[in-house]
Amino acid sequence: MRILITGGAGFIGSHLCDYFLEKNCEVICMDNLLTGRADNVARHFGHPKFSFVHYDVTNYIHVDGPLDFILHFASPASPPDFERLGIRILKVGALGTHKVLGLARVKQAKYLLASTSEVYGDPQVHPQHEDYWGNVNPIGIRGVYDEAKRFAESMTMAYHRLHGIDTRIVRIFNTYGERMRLDDGRAIPNFISQALAGEDLTVYGDGSQTRSIGYVADLVDGIHRLMQSSLNVPVNIGNPVELTMKELAEKIIALTGSKSRIAFRPLPADDPKQRLPDISRARRELGWEPQVSAEEGLKRTIAWFAKAR
Ligand code: UDP
Repeated sequence: MRILITGGAGFIGSHLCDYFLEKNCEVICMDNLLTGRADNVARHFGHPKFSFVHYDVTNYIHVDGPLDFILHFASPASPPDFERLGIRILKVGALGTHKVLGLARVKQAKYLLASTSEVYGDPQVHPQHEDYWGNVNPIGIRGVYDEAKRFAESMTMAYHRLHGIDTRIVRIFNTYGERMRLDDGRAIPNFISQALAGEDLTVYGDGSQTRSIGYVADLVDGIHRLMQSSLNVPVNIGNPVELTMKELAEKIIALTGSKSRIAFRPLPADDPKQRLPDISRARRELGWEPQVSAEEGLKRTIAWFAKAR
């Protein structure tokens, strides 16, 4: 297989590069390095089946030769980026998705969109199943990401219906692991960096808001299963264990053995109060189930952060 991975130098993209190179595929990693880092894929430079293209997919994309699959992962995805990079996020979700789908059409390649649990916004249905349409504030601070991904899903389905492209949509819930940016600003990198430095862990609001945390290797396995399936409808991939952000902070303090304490900070606007995937579709259709517990995944991630910082 010859695969193009947009956003291939990002956190999740780089794990996909590793995975498919190990499976003996040819991998073209395309990234403009806005939030991705060449370091994430540097060990593959010189690999005969790996190439890196420094490119912004909001522009017309040309790739030499055939492509079997395109994995469209290009986009900043951390809430602090929503304020800093709002227009870039809207452009890559809209213009970038259009260009990537155009390329899939020319190459007659299969295509998978990295979507997100953010399409559900601040959900009024709990847990979130794929048929829920969401509760999104289009003009809010998170709207740039939520609406970009919602548009990307619509565009993907339009190309599927009108041009017969064989498409997949994965709705990715909170995922963590090695190679997250230390200064990414999301809960897990913040908490681990703070715990390792002996600083207070900044829990926003009263910490009662919930998420579930999925380890990156489980996500990659789910994505591979989805690629092998023939499902054109969206599929949630995330961990089915819900925890509050205060519990998450306490867990990270315990696992790092840190003397840090929790400091409460203001809750950002539109921060979803509850989030938990209903993964019945992934279980039923893909035979997928996360394998790595939060303790195990966090231990591995903490070990990586301890070395990287
Ligand atoms: N959060 C927190 N402290 C931090 C960073 C995030 O309490 O230092 C909270 C944030 O308000 C949200 C949850 O943790 O309720 C998860 O945030 P994250 O940025 O990881 O991703 P989100 O799920 O909001 O997209």
